[in-house]
Amino acid sequence: MIPGPVEFDPEVMRALGTKTASHVAPEFITVFGRALKRFREVCLAPSAQPFVVAGSGTLAMELAVANLVEPGERALVVNTGYFSDRMATLLERYGAEVVQAKCAPGEVPDVAEVERVLAGGRFKVMTVTHVDTSTGVLAPVEALVKAAGRQGVLSVVDGVCATAGETFHQEAWGADVYLTASQKAIGVPPGLALLCVSKRAMDAWRSRRTPVRSLYADFAEWLPIMEAYEAGRPAYFATPPVNLVYALEVSLGQILREGMEARFARHRRMAQAFRAGWRALGLKLLPVSEAVTANTLSALYYPEGVDAAVLGRAREQGVVLAGGLHPQLKTRYFRVGHMNVVGPSDVLATVGAVERALLAAGHRSEPGVAVAAAQAELLAAR
Ligand code: PMP
Repeated sequence: MIPGPVEFDPEVMRALGTKTASHVAPEFITVFGRALKRFREVCLAPSAQPFVVAGSGTLAMELAVANLVEPGERALVVNTGYFSDRMATLLERYGAEVVQAKCAPGEVPDVAEVERVLAGGRFKVMTVTHVDTSTGVLAPVEALVKAAGRQGVLSVVDGVCATAGETFHQEAWGADVYLTASQKAIGVPPGLALLCVSKRAMDAWRSRRTPVRSLYADFAEWLPIMEAYEAGRPAYFATPPVNLVYALEVSLGQILREGMEARFARHRRMAQAFRAGWRALGLKLLPVSEAVTANTLSALYYPEGVDAAVLGRAREQGVVLAGGLHPQLKTRYFRVGHMNVVGPSDVLATVGAVERALLAAGHRSEPGVAVAAAQAELLAAR
């Protein structure tokens, strides 16, 4: 139950074990083409351009930055933690002049203030981490991307810990890039970088004055490949991860069968049940309010007298959890992922294991209260 890689559906794992086809075989072309169409649907961005490339989420971030930003251009990073820091590092590496809207861990920058900064700043892009995996903070992305749109600034949303788990309507909200990776709510083992790019952002890329500095990250190399596969034709730039694409096509099919709104709602319901369990245990969440708390993971302070050793106890109870990640606080909290195939039984098993681990670590609470509270929430939400 870590915030990625998560548990994967057996049908997805079976697809991963398919005999590896040639990357130009007709059956693979069909699968890749369908995966691209499905990814566009998952992002709710009917006129955006999807890209699926071998790599991890960091490569998806790099593709966005390398293609949209030229040296000397200005970028505003809405910073909610570790992965926003990484975005700032990448932007600097590609020569951008970076301004950051920062806040204390667990908080989000004020949207009106961000818009005020955007208004006077000649910014090319604004970046925001949809869910910052280091803090469990859910950023107000809809308001932020709309603010960027009003100011004529391109918006880049890092959805690695959010896509297909947190509500997101790329086209309706006007987000220019939604980027993600395979190993979280997309439901496929690690190894894919995925992006959906708006027409406006593709036009901004087309009107660059300088070439993209990275060959592997250059849309100029990948766009013809994505267009060809979607049109049912083979093309080659760099060998696609054939088996991961098979798995992706299956997982995205499952996601769309569930339905995006139903899937967002399930993640919300499961997160609420987790939170009921945490409250019953007296645990404090790192995000400062419910409104900025992610539905894809919980970041929880260790209670008084308990430290990271409790994670070992949870593992003995059969549940793998993650430690802290935010540089300022990492020894003071732990994280529980709840993405993809997570259902009521996972909630009860996980909350129960955390409860037993905490009791074994000396935390004082009434045995069974957390499981009862989570169960009550699940029943109330039916
Ligand atoms: N952004 C966010 C929000 C993430 O959670 C992660 C990974 N946990 C990344 C970017 C980087 O992805 P990867 O580890 O797949 O490179």
